[in-house]
Amino acid sequence: MKIYNTLTRRKEDFVPLEEGKVKMYACGITVSGEAHIGHAYQALIYDIIRKYLEKAGYDVKYARNYTDVDDKIIAKSHETGIPALEYAAMMIENIDALMRRFEVDDPTVWLKATENIDNIIDFVESLIKSGHAYPTERGDVYFKVDSFKGYGKLSGRRTEDAYESVRIENEENKQDPLDFALWKSAKEGEIYWESPWGKGRPGWHIECSAMNRAAFGEQIDIHGGGRDLVFPHHENEIAQTEALTGKQFAKYWIHNGLIKVNGQKMSKSLGNSLLLKDLLDEYSPETIKYALLQTNYRGDINITDELFPEADKHMYGFYKTLADVEASGLKADGGSPDIDAEFDRAMDDDFNTAKALADLFGLFKRIKAKLAASDASAANDAEQIKKTYGLLGLFRRKPAEFIAYYEAKQKSDIPAEVLRLADERAAAKVAKDWATADALRAKITALGYSVKDTKEGPVIEKL
Ligand SMILES: [Zn+2]
Repeated sequence: MKIYNTLTRRKEDFVPLEEGKVKMYACGITVSGEAHIGHAYQALIYDIIRKYLEKAGYDVKYARNYTDVDDKIIAKSHETGIPALEYAAMMIENIDALMRRFEVDDPTVWLKATENIDNIIDFVESLIKSGHAYPTERGDVYFKVDSFKGYGKLSGRRTEDAYESVRIENEENKQDPLDFALWKSAKEGEIYWESPWGKGRPGWHIECSAMNRAAFGEQIDIHGGGRDLVFPHHENEIAQTEALTGKQFAKYWIHNGLIKVNGQKMSKSLGNSLLLKDLLDEYSPETIKYALLQTNYRGDINITDELFPEADKHMYGFYKTLADVEASGLKADGGSPDIDAEFDRAMDDDFNTAKALADLFGLFKRIKAKLAASDASAANDAEQIKKTYGLLGLFRRKPAEFIAYYEAKQKSDIPAEVLRLADERAAAKVAKDWATADALRAKITALGYSVKDTKEGPVIEKL
């Protein structure tokens, strides 16, 4: 199995620290707002990577965190009047429920910053003792970046460049602008925990280092997150952990690409955030997954208006074929190992879901040909696809269920005028009034829709 490692900037053979076991951590969500498609995508990718590692025979321990205290959560708490911890707990419950609807499984271990305050304080104290961090008079603690020689090795940023990218804030007590906060003193009215440096709360970066150590010890195999976390978050995690342990923190650093909407970065200020809730109200989780997994996880995904409707159409086509297999009465009498082997070949190459999904077209074409020839192995192929591609969260439904969902949705998307014309056309056909039926079809076409007559009745589609 090959994995692209951000740290070495190349694909490497995957060899875990301990034979047969994988320790994997992926940075999770800061629960200051509702879950959007970016959150869902990240959760999906690491769930799939975990499942594929398990399929390959590894015993995987996979941890994900919730950042449940930070500046934005505190701001939301002040805005809503809900205490910060209560607000965070409410958001976590809400996001968990959405992820279940999206059919993404829980990690082996859930970690929360607020449940690890002692671990965090202990970590920060050790960094101060070893000269890698310092407290200020105000009660903040900073990591001393120039005390760690390897700073910049993940992002490839040289320290000089990094200076330009750090916002020079009004933090006069920092010894160096690059130094970053491990512990933040509490302002009046903010949530706090007692610490050796006074009342305060953890910085963001330290929670992942401290929780990793608590969950796994000093080293892990895989650390994942969105590409936007490479700098400074992951660079800082490396600095904190490796300064403390003197050992390599994560052997493989995996970063998923980012999501754009119609070519633009998704952001609150642009108002173009696609909320997971809204997407799940409109599309099957399988459609959303199919749409996202058509791109290799390292590439950026551009969500256009057509992306989900197109994915819906493809999934519908595949499910129609699965329904045809059921209707044919052909029974599976074994698997189709070639399908599974080809899937593994794609996934062994840096989890290439794009290739695995592209293969589906050829596979379903083959099933159709076999059906036409009454070849019973069509049923074996269909069963194998369900089993193999179930790992990606696809084909978990009964064909009739997906077909009903798609057709009902198509109908609800069609303007009432078109539906009325189609009904009139159907009546004209029953009356064998072909001229009227043809004229009505022309009107439907002029409105941008097609009408096809099938065994199940007329099917209306957008042109
Ligand atoms: Zn993190």
